[in-house]
Amino acid sequence: FERKKQELNIDLNEVQKKAVLQTEGPLLLLACPGSGKTTTMIMRIGYLIEEKKVDPKRIKAITFSRASARDMAERFARFFPQSEPVDFSTIHSLAFSIARVFLERSGMTFELIEGGGKGRQPVNKAFLLKNLYKEMLHDDCTEDQLASLSTFISSIKNRMIPLDEWGKLDGPVEKAGRIAKKYEEMKTRTAGHLLLDFDDMLTIAEQALREDESLNERFCNRYDYVLTDESQDTSLVQHRIVEHLVAYHGNLCVVADDDQSIYTWRGAEPDYLLDFKKVYPDAQVLMMERNYRSSKEIVETASAFIKRNTKRYPKEMQTENEAKGPIFIKQWDDPKRQLEYVTYELLSEKELSEVAILFRNNSSSTMYVNELHRRGIPFYMKDADDKFFSHWIVEDILNFMRLSFNAERKDVFSKIIMKMNLFISRNMLTKFQHTETTGNVFDAFIQTVDLKESQVKKLKAYKEGYAIIPELRPDRVIKVIRHDLGYEAALKSRAEKFGFRFESLLSILDTLEGIAAQLRTMVEFANRLKELEQAVQNAKFNPPDNAVTLSTFHSAKGLEFRRVFMIDLLKGIIPSEEDEGDRVLMEEARRLFYVGMTRAKERLELLSYGQDEGKAKEDSRFLNEVRGLLLKPGMQDKSDKPVKITKAKLAINPNGIQDGGELKAGTAVKHRVFGKGEIIKREGDEIHIQFGASVKRLDLDTVLSLRL
Ligand code: ATP
Ligand code: MG
Repeated sequence: FERKKQELNIDLNEVQKKAVLQTEGPLLLLACPGSGKTTTMIMRIGYLIEEKKVDPKRIKAITFSRASARDMAERFARFFPQSEPVDFSTIHSLAFSIARVFLERSGMTFELIEGGGKGRQPVNKAFLLKNLYKEMLHDDCTEDQLASLSTFISSIKNRMIPLDEWGKLDGPVEKAGRIAKKYEEMKTRTAGHLLLDFDDMLTIAEQALREDESLNERFCNRYDYVLTDESQDTSLVQHRIVEHLVAYHGNLCVVADDDQSIYTWRGAEPDYLLDFKKVYPDAQVLMMERNYRSSKEIVETASAFIKRNTKRYPKEMQTENEAKGPIFIKQWDDPKRQLEYVTYELLSEKELSEVAILFRNNSSSTMYVNELHRRGIPFYMKDADDKFFSHWIVEDILNFMRLSFNAERKDVFSKIIMKMNLFISRNMLTKFQHTETTGNVFDAFIQTVDLKESQVKKLKAYKEGYAIIPELRPDRVIKVIRHDLGYEAALKSRAEKFGFRFESLLSILDTLEGIAAQLRTMVEFANRLKELEQAVQNAKFNPPDNAVTLSTFHSAKGLEFRRVFMIDLLKGIIPSEEDEGDRVLMEEARRLFYVGMTRAKERLELLSYGQDEGKAKEDSRFLNEVRGLLLKPGMQDKSDKPVKITKAKLAINPNGIQDGGELKAGTAVKHRVFGKGEIIKREGDEIHIQFGASVKRLDLDTVLSLRL
């Protein structure tokens, strides 16, 4: 085992060794980011197998997400290639296997109403909640309300609040507690048949282990050693499941960092760790404070930063790693500049798998996806979000465009006219649909339906506005729809009526405009959206090798990269508007920022911008805090060094194409993603290159970094 550790170039420190060797009984390893918690856990498993001759099947390692289970299994296989595989899985998949046995034994049938892809189940959680919302509040619920209601229900189940108390609970929407209770009752309405969401698996597994003696015996006898990583994000019901599992032997290793607790909104219970000794009186508690991951600057700054939280287990993160240069902080003019900077930097990165772009909200990713895809920079997305492409605003814009191609389409007309501030009723539309008409829908509508003069005037103006659309480039078309046709004003009233955040809606339009700005026609635009949606799917399920990672701060937990860009660090984004003014939420937001910072090994870049579409933006207060920390004596002395982006910078590859004159038809090139190719022709700043069977059009600035 000693030899093995040397081979792996990991010389375990005293505490790590202790945690590896102390195999029997309960152990809590409470430690800083990058201190080797996960590494120690893997070494401990290896030690159990190689030295203690434990059968790998008798070890259960519980991780936070399926992605981290995969990561860990890979790391284990790398460390101990001869070993049989160990079962790394999420608590949900463990709970599901317990719940399934329990339900089958009780003669119950069940169906899952969550997960498994959009629209797979006819009855799903979202569908039930939407209906209940409507029934109880006589209104349609928005996607945002649906999401927060769903999280609310999840969190009360994870906290194990008894069902008879649910009705009284306050939640994110009116009557949330009562909706939750009705939802619960609905799922058990058919005798002998259960509808199950993800949280039910936990609840049922817990109950099964508690009440069903033979089942308890069966599962408790299955594992001799249980380990859980990232336990600061474990909920009460999950902790209870683990307690049941180790009840016989108490061989439990719990690894956690309370400073990285970022899921309390979903019911995680980090306080449980502070009571660990109450649950397991003979538990050992070990602390690890030495960070092996990050440079001196990053460790010192992050450590000072997290100390501003008042509610935390005191730890002193330090490191013996070298200094690797200052943390880079930069406020760009606008999001476009920020994007340009990041992509230009990526073009000169050789090992993209060592680079990550991290953001608070998934909505930040779309422009990056567009740009990376356009430039052929490979990217990986762990929890890719393709909801953007099916958002109703995207659908609206496409409908506006469709109508401009064929002004006789009543179906499309009906869809968009309802979205405008015209006070058109459903009855009018039904009448219109059922009346035989020909020609331009605007004229036909005016003739068929009884309208006020002001409505007629507006419709005529629309018709005129529409007439020019087919002539325009797609970004102009979106501007016309937004401003001249009044879509933006209509969105504003919708936002007020349904409780959407108007800002988020506008940012969707901005993103669409950004995508459209690089294209010439509406058809190209529509195709581009399809293409991007597909690219996001690929980036998730079929990522290329050596790809840059795009991830939310949340999903980056546990990972590390040589270089990390944290983008869009703005007031209102992190902390979010809801976080402001609430101490508990604020501390969680600070932990989230801290998780982001501590992913970087050598170079951490904190980026923001000063304005967006003419609107001034303020930096995140966390960004300002870090800035302040950097100015303190002893910390790095200079931040915000101006960097200049010049296109010439891209030509540094000495074997690369140095100037545009070389880009003649017939020139052989090699692209890092597309491989070998040959230039076919050049059109202004666009170069057409034949790669194998397909022709790609690349921007001049990308091509300048190609190798010959
Ligand atoms: P996080 O809280 O972010 O999940 P962690 O505590 O799980 O971090 P690891 O990911 O296990 O930390 O380790 C961080 C880095 O430090 C890894 O690259 C790992 O190889 C390295 N490392 C850990 N322990 C040692 C050691 N004793 N000697 C050298 N390198 C180490
Ligand atoms: Mg870890």
